[in-house]
Amino acid sequence: MAEKAPDTPIKATCHCGDISITAPRRPACVNECQCTLCRRYAVAWAYYDPAEVKVEIKEGAATIKYIWGDRDHSFDFCTKCGCMCYWWPIKEQSTPKMGLNTRLVDPDEMRYVTRNIDYDQLYVPIGEGTPHPEDKAKY
Ligand SMILES: [Zn+2]
Repeated sequence: MAEKAPDTPIKATCHCGDISITAPRRPACVNECQCTLCRRYAVAWAYYDPAEVKVEIKEGAATIKYIWGDRDHSFDFCTKCGCMCYWWPIKEQSTPKMGLNTRLVDPDEMRYVTRNIDYDQLYVPIGEGTPHPEDKAKY
């Protein structure tokens, strides 16, 4: 693949194609967050200002929103194929931010992007550690 300019927009699509998201540029890094929720989604977030991201949902299609904890953002899935697409702020933020799941982006596009792992608890045996009080999962 030919190298693209860093400000070339990237496109993410869910598996069935009902949801597509266009971000203004390839991220400098992605976050394979290991918090109680994100590790279940197996996502790789890239963060943007919501104002610079375009979400397109095909006519008749929809997302399901999972809203929990501090209820300050929703996690949006495609209702048809179940792909986790993005999280989106639903409360006023001083620094507006959304998370795009880059697992929905062409892997060639993301090949050389640095990967970070927040809440790296991969070494913690399942069931140990301090879970978020609203994590209702039982092992
Ligand atoms: Zn879909």
